[in-house]
Amino acid sequence: MARIVVAGAGAIGASIAYHLALRGARDVVLADVGEVASGATSKAMGGVRQQFSTAAEVRLAQASIRFFAELGPPYFEQVGYLFLATTDAGLAALEERRGLQHELGVPVERVDPARVAGLEVDDVVGAVACWDDGCADPSAVTRELVRRAVERGVDLREHADALDVEGDVFVIACGPHSQEVAAARGVELPVRPLCRQLLLTSPVDAPADLPMVVEAETGFHFRRRGDRLVLAMSDATPRWSFEETVDESVFGDRLERLAHRYPVAASATIADAWAGHYDMTPDAHPIIGWVADGVYAACGFSGHGFMQSPAVGEAAAAELLGESPPFELAPYRLERFAGEATFPETLVL
Ligand SMILES: Cc1cc2nc3c(=O)[nH]c(=O)nc-3n(C[C@H](O)[C@H](O)[C@H](O)COP(=O)(O)OP(=O)(O)OC[C@H]3O[C@@H](n4cnc5c(N)ncnc54)[C@H](O)[C@@H]3O)c2cc1C
Repeated sequence: MARIVVAGAGAIGASIAYHLALRGARDVVLADVGEVASGATSKAMGGVRQQFSTAAEVRLAQASIRFFAELGPPYFEQVGYLFLATTDAGLAALEERRGLQHELGVPVERVDPARVAGLEVDDVVGAVACWDDGCADPSAVTRELVRRAVERGVDLREHADALDVEGDVFVIACGPHSQEVAAARGVELPVRPLCRQLLLTSPVDAPADLPMVVEAETGFHFRRRGDRLVLAMSDATPRWSFEETVDESVFGDRLERLAHRYPVAASATIADAWAGHYDMTPDAHPIIGWVADGVYAACGFSGHGFMQSPAVGEAAAAELLGESPPFELAPYRLERFAGEATFPETLVL
């Protein structure tokens, strides 16, 4: 049987290796230049939702949620994802998305946001939520998948450059580094790093079932992590680079937004912050599939690679073994860019 070398042991590579082993692949090497979950996966917010805007994405998300729900706590807490709209246009957009999601069987509902204790909702004109969604621990999930993969015979090599490992099939799951790894195999992939940061507050008295709260118009969102909250919002000007600097100038603004939306946390301060990288493609959708003879890519996941990783791993493993993938991958082929990949100037993530 051919040897499959999976490059990158983040959420995506771990899931592919695990699903390859589940499907009976015998000779799989999972190699990472660093350690398991040492890349973008370790920086992620851990949001897991099915509320996407295209049918293909919703299906990937639905299958992934099933997997996360089976893992259960402490890996995944099914606390829900609540989107708040403060304008009629924002609410209309949420409603349009809800229609598609409903058709596909995602239990998204109109809700009274006041049911989430402590939220300030005076300026909210409407809200939708899916209570099957929730928050996970990306590093812990990834390490668990790798543990299961190794138990089934996958050869894990940490501190090993996958480009130095001999194999018949090479799988690029290197997150923001996928472009350079692909280039070393003679393949051009339109994947660029985008610096993003998360802020961790001082302890806050938030209930264990606090959902992920997302302001639809501003993109400001927060979740509970242990006895603290994690806050996120896009930069006003996207930082397209491998820089990892935390921009402290936004701390005051983010705390003000938090104090307004969740007065329970009005006295919180920022205790920690870190920056990581989204692996962006020009349309913010991933590249999944064969990109050259013997070279397969699963990268360019923008801000949602962790939450899609279970379904992506299953689908990629099937294709790698010559089987039909259980999900539609047609929207994610490299060919859609047809050599005309241009990155947008502004982003709504
Ligand atoms: C601040 C932030 C918040 C986020 N929030 C969320 C969220 O809430 N929900 C969500 O779903 N997603 C979120 N994401 C996105 C998510 O983290 C990524 O989409 C996902 O982790 C990508 O996983 P990956 O395995 O493709 O990449 P990575 O986790 O980056 O793993 C790639 C691995 O490849 C390795 N590598 C590189 N070169 C080589 C080589 N030559 N040989 C071997 N190994 C190599 C690296 O060391 C790394 O470990 C967030 C990302 C950031 C930065």
